[in-house]
Formats: sequence, structure tokens, C-alpha cells
Amino acid sequence: MTGGPCRVGPLDQASLLGSIALAAMIALVGCSSGRQDAGQTGISACMDPVEARSADIRRNLGALRGAPICYRRQTVSEGPFQWVFHVLEHTKAPKGPFWVVPHDNENAAFDAGVHAVLTYGGGLLAVDSSGNRTRYGQDPNRNFSRSRSESRLCSGQRRAAPRYTAAILGHYRGRSGPYLALHNNRNGHAGNGGSGNLSMALAGRSITSWPGAAVGSPALRDEDNLVFMADRHPPGTDANTRRRIAALNRAGLNVMHKEVTDRSFDCSMSDFVARHRLGDYYNIEAELGARRTQIEMVDRLMASIGIRPLRRAAANPFLD
Ligand SMILES: [Zn+2]
Repeated sequence: MTGGPCRVGPLDQASLLGSIALAAMIALVGCSSGRQDAGQTGISACMDPVEARSADIRRNLGALRGAPICYRRQTVSEGPFQWVFHVLEHTKAPKGPFWVVPHDNENAAFDAGVHAVLTYGGGLLAVDSSGNRTRYGQDPNRNFSRSRSESRLCSGQRRAAPRYTAAILGHYRGRSGPYLALHNNRNGHAGNGGSGNLSMALAGRSITSWPGAAVGSPALRDEDNLVFMADRHPPGTDANTRRRIAALNRAGLNVMHKEVTDRSFDCSMSDFVARHRLGDYYNIEAELGARRTQIEMVDRLMASIGIRPLRRAAANPFLD
């Protein structure tokens, strides 16, 4: 935590998870002398992105420098785990779409997120795992749960994480848009000679694949480039889900849909959002390193769901 002014963000009062445990947590939240004690959750005041201790942000400083961006560092302490999040928000359009990048080794995903914030406003939260996929032996995208009984449904979660979950999802309070995430995955899948664990060629009991139409870059047809959606319906049975999938397919985007049940719930963000019916969810998955393709996918998804780029400032008639 850097020194200086420190305030508790609105996310700490996340009512969407309004449990008694959270109320107790809120009572504990405080910020004194810019220092955080164990057991606290907090977020810094706005800083210049130049001050961020993050290789991801350093890599993107060229694009961020001079842009209307607030960088904040958020910390969450939960049992023995001390999580650090890097948060970027557009200061002129802070209520725009908000993206979560859970895996710190997925650089194209982070870069596509920066493109999204600069183009559409809103914000981005990236979990800091020192450049690795996991931290404390915990996959940050298998760490969404709000109780011990819920956590027990997931083999990938080491302990219940109501604070972590509230701190991340609290960023969606007051936003009308969908829950959004960005990921990268390795090529193919183990079943077809590849090394990834997610692919359009992979179907399962609760997973269905819907290939995109042949528009846009040929790379959009790659089995590893897809928009992941999750809700509680089998995709053929819910008219709204079917419409959303068809719209993305028409925009040239592959879609993978997961039906979330008690049995298939895995403590990922997608599954948590679906399980608690928090709202629409889209995760853009692109092959590792496919930065340009992932940016095209961001733009196609935004257009498909009706989110427009920020307007450029009107020309000043006194300057020409
Ligand atoms: Zn990922």
C-alpha cells in the first residue's frame, strides 16, 4: 500500500453479496495512515499508472500515458492470503464496461483490456500473481464463493473467499453492463494433440459450442478464440440465451456456453455470476499471444451488445 490519502471504495459495501459475514467485514474495513493491517480490505486513492508496480501496466504505459486513467491498488486479506489487484478506470467515463483479468500470465488478455478501457471507458481489474497463473497454490479464477458450503462444491478452491469475491464483484455495483472477463489459453486441447484445456472442439456434459459466422479475421475461426458464456439454462432452452449466442455468432465470434448447476459449478467468476443470477456474463478467450485477435474480439463483442466507443471530443471552432 502506498502512503497518502486512502479511502475505502464502494465495493467494500458490496450489497450484492449482502451476507452477515460481509457486514462484519465492512465494520472492520478502515484506512489509517495509508497502512493496512491483516484482515482488512482497501483500495488506494488514484495514482498515475507510472507509479504502478506491475509489469502489465509498465508494458502498456505508452498507451496509458496522458490518457484520462485513474490507477488504484486494491488489497484483500483473507486468512493467510494477501491478494493484490491493479485497477484502471477511465476518469471521464467511469461507468462503462468493466473487465476482470484473473490470470497474471495472460498478457494479451491484459493488453486487450487496456484497449477496451481506453476505447469504451469503464475499467479493468487484474489480479497480481507475480506474473504467474496461480498464487498461494490458488487459481484466482477458481476462487469465487461466498460460504464454506459453496466452496466445498469446488475442488479447485482451497478455502471460502467471500472477501475476495465481494472485492472483485463490488466493482460492478452501479454499472448496468454485463460482467466481463478476459483470458488466454494454450493451443488446442489435450484430446487433439494440443496443450490447452479450452477449445471449440471440446464439448462436455454442460458445455456446448456454437461456431461463429465467417466474417472478420480468419483467426476468429480458430478453436481457441471464443466468447465463453455461462448461465443456469441448457442453451437450447432459453430464448434470451439463444438470442445472445446467435448475435455473437453473426458478429463472427465463436461461443462456448456452460450450463451451471450445483454439480458443474467450479468457483470461477463465470459460474459464480451465473449461479447467483447477477447478470449477463461474457469472457473473451483468445490463444496466448493473440493480442490483435483479442482486441478485434473486444470490438466485435462491444458492437454486438450495443456498447459504442467513446465519442471523440468535438472539434474546437477556435482552434484550427
Ligand atoms: Zn485465464
